[in-house]
Amino acid sequence: MRQNRSQTKVIATIGPASSSKEMLEKMFHEGIDVCRLNFSHGTHEEHLQVINYILELNAELNTNVAILADLQGPKIRIGDVQDNKIELKDCTEVLFVTEKCIGTAQKLYLSYTNFPKDVNVGDSILIDDGKIKLEVLETNKLDTVKARVIYGGFLSSKKGVNLPNTKISIPSLTEKDIADVNFALDNHADWIALSFVRSANDLFQLKEIIRKKKKLARIIAKIEKPEALADIDNIIEASNGIMVARGDLGVEVPFDQVPLIQKDLVKRCIEKAKPVIIATQMLESMITNFRPTRAEANDIGNAVIDGADALMLSAETSAGKYPLGSIIAMQRIIDWTEKGFVFDRETPPTANSITFLPDSICLNACRLASQTGAKAIVTFTNSGHTAFKISSHRPNADIFAFTRNKTLLRKLSLLWGVRAFPIAEHKKMDTAIKHSIEFLKNNDYLHDGDIVVHVGSIPFEKRGQTNIVKLSFV
Ligand code: PGA
Ligand code: MN
Repeated sequence: MRQNRSQTKVIATIGPASSSKEMLEKMFHEGIDVCRLNFSHGTHEEHLQVINYILELNAELNTNVAILADLQGPKIRIGDVQDNKIELKDCTEVLFVTEKCIGTAQKLYLSYTNFPKDVNVGDSILIDDGKIKLEVLETNKLDTVKARVIYGGFLSSKKGVNLPNTKISIPSLTEKDIADVNFALDNHADWIALSFVRSANDLFQLKEIIRKKKKLARIIAKIEKPEALADIDNIIEASNGIMVARGDLGVEVPFDQVPLIQKDLVKRCIEKAKPVIIATQMLESMITNFRPTRAEANDIGNAVIDGADALMLSAETSAGKYPLGSIIAMQRIIDWTEKGFVFDRETPPTANSITFLPDSICLNACRLASQTGAKAIVTFTNSGHTAFKISSHRPNADIFAFTRNKTLLRKLSLLWGVRAFPIAEHKKMDTAIKHSIEFLKNNDYLHDGDIVVHVGSIPFEKRGQTNIVKLSFV
């Protein structure tokens, strides 16, 4: 197992290249923190097998690798195409129809019934991550849209479609998503990501499903639509974290805008103490090559410097030639960048918030740690709130969260810098502090002479809001 874990976390998408227990175990050893199950692909049976392996490995290796279930959302696709390969030639005309058919260079099925009603003449149709571009010439407002190929190319079945100019009237949770989220909740998902979120409203139905099932899974809003950017503060408020989903985002908004959008989203999330994931094409070339491009290494280093909580690998680990190599490369760049860079962000707590006092304690615990050169900040947490808050200040000290809440352990793995451990019942703060220090010493996280800052609440057994900070020598 990697000894020095990084503060920036690594998410690996699991797929055919990585779904065996042997490969998962190697990936755990290289330091992955979260496994992403992509519900755009795979059967429930396949996902369940992976979940079981993750749970087994967590038990065997004493880790808390989290399970992130990523719902497809209202993704639009073309249907099957003839012989799984057709060519759309520049300047030719293509009909998009809403009735299922085998696609040809003249006629393609689109999985979006209201498309002819919602689209306008002149709108763009982008296929396969924007590699093919068409422009709408006419619509009969019923079942057929005629378009001209601007940039053609080869096309295989079921490729994704982006309609950057069209206001899409598809519900945010499709029938498939509802089945998938129920499956994920029944099978230990810690985080649920929703694709193509357009407004904070899109998250309510998902929250309701989680609440009705009495589950504690947390929500990630994937930001990949221009509408989402217009409602971003409400979306961040309504979710437990966000993903900068650059794959779709980079075709839905002009790609030149993505670098600043990424930086802006990271900043907003850190200020709100919500974890933020940077996703897609981080090591794209490593799907086929054993070494990253210089631009990819720079992209990863820059995302670390931005202060992202977690960086995500997609096809690199799910379907690429070097699933393990990609994780090692990403981890190396993260480690080196973190070594040469001091974070320390301070976001003052909001004065009228109901968590003003605990939030103030978290900020001042970080200040105290910084001033005294403390090795670690330890929090005792039930809700996870103080772990989110302390993490958001990106302190220089390690962050250890002790909790009696078992469902929290894996969830916290997504957060910048946070390492979570279970703790037995303690009646008094004194004994809990003693126990935590002993545990961290025994596991080589702390050594004699180190300074530690603890935050917690007394009376300890009441589990009230955080109200104390304590400074100790190990
Ligand atoms: P996806 O989401 O891989 O599910 O499309 C990530 C992205 O769009 O970047
Ligand atoms: Mn996407």
